[in-house]
Amino acid sequence: MEFKQGEELIIVHFGELWLKGGNRDYYIRLLERNIREQLAGEDFSLQRNFDRLALRPGKGSDADKIIAKLKKVFGISAIELSVVAKPELDEIVSAAKKMLSRRPRAASIRIDSHRSYKQLPFTSVDIVDSLKKTADKLGIEPKPKEYERKLSISVTKDAAFLTLNRERGAGGLPVGSSGKAVILISGGIDSPVAAWYAMKRGLEPVYLHVHAFRDNREAERSKLSIIISKLAEFHPHSKTYFIPSYVFQANSSRFGKYELVLLKAFMLRIAEKVALREEADMIVTGESLGQVASQTSSNMAAEQQGIRLPVMRPLFGFDKEEIIAMAKKIGTFEESIKPYRDVCSINSRNPKTETRRGDMKTMLGKIGISKIASRSMALSTMREF
Ligand code: ATP
Ligand code: MG
Repeated sequence: MEFKQGEELIIVHFGELWLKGGNRDYYIRLLERNIREQLAGEDFSLQRNFDRLALRPGKGSDADKIIAKLKKVFGISAIELSVVAKPELDEIVSAAKKMLSRRPRAASIRIDSHRSYKQLPFTSVDIVDSLKKTADKLGIEPKPKEYERKLSISVTKDAAFLTLNRERGAGGLPVGSSGKAVILISGGIDSPVAAWYAMKRGLEPVYLHVHAFRDNREAERSKLSIIISKLAEFHPHSKTYFIPSYVFQANSSRFGKYELVLLKAFMLRIAEKVALREEADMIVTGESLGQVASQTSSNMAAEQQGIRLPVMRPLFGFDKEEIIAMAKKIGTFEESIKPYRDVCSINSRNPKTETRRGDMKTMLGKIGISKIASRSMALSTMREF
């Protein structure tokens, strides 16, 4: 990559991707693909530069807007807006001088330097020493602790990058790098947060929503689509399956207090069918142990009886308040608290808290769960977002 002295670049760091040894290239290519998708419509060029990606904003494009979008791409550990200098000591000093002279000027500064290319005729210590002198001359006190700003210099073979601000990325792994998961999504607060954590670990989401409407189209027009479009800000492509609950409901009402745990068992069976079709390896739910009367360990064990795929519950250890804080951060909270006729809230107000596995097996047999699941699956529609 050719760099122009003094030009601004957005530097994307991968973080955890470093741990992936031989598969690193695969992860980085996926990350590049995801970045391009996320920035569709923006003018930029993207290139790999050793242990990072360098993004050059096109003329007239807004670097801050690009950075805001990049902060929603999983697999990025940090984002920097940098100025480029030639990998020569005096060039680095003059670029630093220009940056440090910018207003508002800091009173104190910490200077960090790192060389990923070791064959240069100067060391990191040389850089730090020279820049300390430069800062001093400008009246900025070099301070290793309790500094106002940090100037980081990172030198590769082709260029030195100077940056005064380093922003945290979303972390995690590129979406798609861990395969796919079927995510049981409701209109509530929790499951969108669970979906976010699933994406964070590199899972591409295939959403599954069981609705209480007569017609799938009504569900497609509901707030659920808005919730999914909010989640799509973190990964633009996903599929959503809409499944009516009436076949299940027509057969389950006689089980009274067990209806809710049976409904979960039903949803997991549908999820397995969708997983087969979509080649997904996991199922994800927004359950959190003990959060509500129905989410007990015995109910969870009962509902996933006979399910072969792993059922992941990313919110397992979270308190409700922590989940709410995350939902606000992700941006789904406002939509999640709007009224919605969710199947779970229609089903028994006073659910069974303790379900014996043997009883569950008998009930699933009586209800004819496989048939119900197949018939419901045949009524599904899929929408791409
Ligand atoms: P949420 O806020 O996600 O709705 P909740 O605390 O209301 O969770 P439940 O209603 O018991 O708890 O749902 C537990 C999980 O079951 C949800 O997080 C979701 O993964 C799944 N689920 C609930 N309702 C539906 C639905 N209508 N369609 C698909 N999955 C659902
Ligand atoms: Mg719910």
